Parts: sequence; structure tokens; C-alpha cells
Amino acid sequence: MTNPVSEWVLKASNLKDPLVEAASGDASTNWLLLASALQQGINLCQLQKFITELRKNIKDVAELPAPAESLIRDAVIKCKLGNWSLASVVAGIVWSVGRFARARENRLDLWAEKTSPADIWRSCGDIFYMGKTSALRPKALGFLYRIGKGSTLPVSAGARRWLIRAEIYDAEEDGREKLRKANSLYKELYPKKPALACHALQFFAEPLDENNYFCQRIFPCSLCPVSNYCRSHS
Ligand code: SF4
Repeated sequence: MTNPVSEWVLKASNLKDPLVEAASGDASTNWLLLASALQQGINLCQLQKFITELRKNIKDVAELPAPAESLIRDAVIKCKLGNWSLASVVAGIVWSVGRFARARENRLDLWAEKTSPADIWRSCGDIFYMGKTSALRPKALGFLYRIGKGSTLPVSAGARRWLIRAEIYDAEEDGREKLRKANSLYKELYPKKPALACHALQFFAEPLDENNYFCQRIFPCSLCPVSNYCRSHS
């Protein structure tokens, strides 16, 4: 582990997963599933803040009566996510995740423990906006990875940025091929434990706000060993 890229991966892998952090506490697996279902058209920091905002007024996404639409809408507005591509369907996704959890006795943690990754992946297709029509179901892969049951690891926005910069990403390519390339990259960066590279790459040039990035918590840009891969600083 002496080369600078490996050093970066190892350090980045120590950063906490923002969605796992936002979901921790009561009913954490329910919140993690919701965060995974909402991970679309939004960066990690925005999604972390949104889940945190929802949790101020909702104890459990599976509670009954189901959370009011106005309450969910207020959280969207408060987090300045009015232009989010999912803004108009967030309430439906919250309710759908709630129904999914209730159908499993509201113990998604136990359900996930005793269910095979393939069955979890398939079942997640029942959730509104979780990829029923997608052959890859990337949000379900994200959920599986976050509960430690993913053998095929998801492509994060950070991993996509890295692949683009390394010129091994082709936007026109089939999603399956993109997934294969990302998983090869994780293996190449950290052969012993590719999930660690997957975890690290989600922070790569991932915005915290307009001027700052998650990865600046590891190195300042001026000392960053992977700045060659970083589009923001080329
Ligand atoms: S150069 Fe800066 S923004 Fe780019 S990866 Fe390094 S720390 Fe992150």
C-alpha cells in the first residue's frame, strides 16, 4: 500500500457513509432502504440532509398512519430540493418503502439477514421507483452494498467520474458493461476487498456544496494524490 492512489483509497474508505449515518438509530434498515430508493438525481450530501430532515418529524418510515404528504413536501422545500427530479414522487416512495417494511413485520433487518441477496434484489423491485423496469436495479444494488450483502457493487457518481477521467467509461455503453467496468476498477484499486474501494470512490469529487467536496476531508486539493483523475481540478 505505498502508491499514492492506494493511499487515497485507504484514507477515503475511512470516511463514514453519509447515508448509513443519516439512517442510523431507530428503524435504521427502513431508513437505509428509503435512502437507497431516493438516490437518484441528488448528491450524497443533499440526500443525507433530506433524510435527516424527514427524521425530525417521522419516527419510522413504516409508521401508521403513513406520513402526511404535506410533511414530506415541506422537507423537500426546506432542503431546497424543489427542482429534484424525484420531488413530485417522494411521498409515493416513502409510502411504498413503508408498505414494504410493514409487509415484513417491520423488521427489515431480520428479513435482510435471512434473505439471499438475489431475493432482496428481486423484492426491491416492488418498491415505487426502485427499478422494476431496470435490468440492473442499481438502487437495490446500493441497498445490498450498504447492508454488506452486495457481491456486485454499485456504480456511484464518484466511481463514474473516475472512470470517465480514466477514459474507461463510455456513456453510450450498456449499463451492464458500465457495472462490470466499475467492479473491475474496485478490484484493481483494492484487490483484497473491492467493497472498500467502492466505499472510497463515492467520495471522489463528490460535492458538499458549491465550492467544497467530501474528498477534501482526506487531502486538500493542492496535496491530493488523485487530482489527476479529478475533473473539477484538471
Ligand atoms: S483534487 Fe480536490 S476535489 Fe479533486 S479528488 Fe482531490 S481533493 Fe477531491
